[in-house]
Amino acid sequence: MADNKYARMLAAGLALAAASGIARAAAPDVERRQPQVEKIVADISPQRIEAAVRKLVGFRTRHSMSETESDTIGIGAARRWIKSELERCGSGKLHLSFDSHIAPVSARISHPTEIVNVVAMLPGAQAESRERLYVVSGHYDSRNSDVMDASGAAPGADDDASGVAAVMEMACVMARYKFDATLVFMAVAGEEQGLLGARHYAVQAKQQGLNIAGMFTNDIIGSARDENGNLNNRMVRLFAEGLPLEKETSESTRLLLSTGGENDSLSRQLARHVKEQGERYVPGFQVNVVQRRDRYLRGGDHLPFLENGYAALRFTEAAEDFSHQHQNLRSEGGKVYGDLPEFNDYDYIAQVARVNAAALATLANAPAAPSRVQLRTAELENGSSVLWQPNREPDIAGYRIVWRETSAADWQGSLFVGNVTDAKISLSKDNVCFGIQAVDKDGNVSPGTYPAPLR
Ligand SMILES: [Zn+2]
Repeated sequence: MADNKYARMLAAGLALAAASGIARAAAPDVERRQPQVEKIVADISPQRIEAAVRKLVGFRTRHSMSETESDTIGIGAARRWIKSELERCGSGKLHLSFDSHIAPVSARISHPTEIVNVVAMLPGAQAESRERLYVVSGHYDSRNSDVMDASGAAPGADDDASGVAAVMEMACVMARYKFDATLVFMAVAGEEQGLLGARHYAVQAKQQGLNIAGMFTNDIIGSARDENGNLNNRMVRLFAEGLPLEKETSESTRLLLSTGGENDSLSRQLARHVKEQGERYVPGFQVNVVQRRDRYLRGGDHLPFLENGYAALRFTEAAEDFSHQHQNLRSEGGKVYGDLPEFNDYDYIAQVARVNAAALATLANAPAAPSRVQLRTAELENGSSVLWQPNREPDIAGYRIVWRETSAADWQGSLFVGNVTDAKISLSKDNVCFGIQAVDKDGNVSPGTYPAPLR
């Protein structure tokens, strides 16, 4: 809001809000850092993350078709250890389960194989929010150069013990606190064999009608150095899809396209929230939103969630070193290949975990994003008039209209309009993108909802 133009726009909006009789209820302080979130961020420990990565690497391989009987080698031992660790640290607050299915033979599965996700749920404390879920995952399976090699060493320290260790650390720290909405911490299997565990969970969630309001996968968040040694440990990439990849354009996508809302999909709204809150609680660390679903040639566990209609994002380190991913352990010309724990930077993983935790805590304490938001378009006029359904949470303080120029990535202005479900603002809907956010009495803010045109 340093920009004079937006200061003027805001002043105009405020003047109009006053003139139109909107109750100027005291706006909760939405910039204030919540003490609970600060404590969570401070408690994230690089030492515990490193210990978990080294323990996971110690299972020699976590290939999805590897040994399951042994207590020391293979994916079975790995998942039993993850579950028992979360049971121990969650001290009754985390509800642990194995989400299991048999994957049939496919391109990357040579015989029917049990794929098991380790799921730790922290139920929400507010009745009106408990059925709103946020899922955060890493994948505990690993691979080497040969995706079908189920017995050779596959340490997978960066890909993706880093993500699993971060999720375990978040679960253990966050289990000590209460949140309005439900958090699901998940260590997923079968990622390297075709996103099998995540797809099973996402398809089931859709069939059961689960309200997953956001999903993050943390995949390859272990190191901030590329193959030339360039270091960038003050930034993480957050991949966020715009319009969904559909065979036929759905009604919701048509609606976005018809009004210039291609940068206002659910995933982009979620990414805006993650960037704002992550950078607020982890100063000096940048969340670089990349406006595409994933890197070229790669996919991740967020994709099945996107395909099932959920908002889903991928965290990945700022720069990758491909000689340490999907490689047999070896030396060639003095260079070490393989995904070993010594190539990770544990302070960096902790920073990424802090961004995740800040985003999850602020989402789970905030109200749901407003529903049925509509922008009146029946008449040609230069002001804008928005209406929406009231939220159900008992601690709602009111709503904010946020806006940005059509070419801007992040919100540039906001106006708290009180606890109403209809508001006017003197900005022209032709020139900006609007969002409506719900705000609770503690100043927790939901992601924005893009308004549909109402004729
Ligand atoms: Zn991976």
